[in-house]
Amino acid sequence: MISKRKFLKNLSFSFFAVFLLPYKFLHSASKKIFNSDLTIEQKDIMFNEGTEKPYSSPLNFEKRKGFYHCANCDAKLFSSTAKFDSGTGWPSFTDSLPGAFKTKIDYSFGMRRIEYHCANCGVHHGHVFDDGPGSSGKRFCNNGLCLIFKPET
Ligand SMILES: [Zn+2]
Repeated sequence: MISKRKFLKNLSFSFFAVFLLPYKFLHSASKKIFNSDLTIEQKDIMFNEGTEKPYSSPLNFEKRKGFYHCANCDAKLFSSTAKFDSGTGWPSFTDSLPGAFKTKIDYSFGMRRIEYHCANCGVHHGHVFDDGPGSSGKRFCNNGLCLIFKPET
């Protein structure tokens, strides 16, 4: 007969195996650090799906022509022509460049949101909503710390 203690031990192991191992696997397998200069804040957002403080990014005020790249792998993600002032405090875009991102449904904080991450390196960038002002109807709400702006020369 299985003792209560052993049963609990098995139960906690099953929980670990069924829920935590695949989670860890999924979240560690696809993301890799390409930029060794990333700060702790950048890593927290990109690898732990954190969020920077609203109105904290200098990119909120960026109005020059150019492209926004992934701060980790340098992939080109947004054109300046898609940028708009959403008033939310985060750099916002009506559309991404084709194939720039992959998405998943995020149920954290009791909300259902669409999370998006760099298709090339897998790091988190932000959430996309269906209330954008452009023809796509999308609003990409991006953490400024995940982006590097390269002005057109
Ligand atoms: Zn990337």
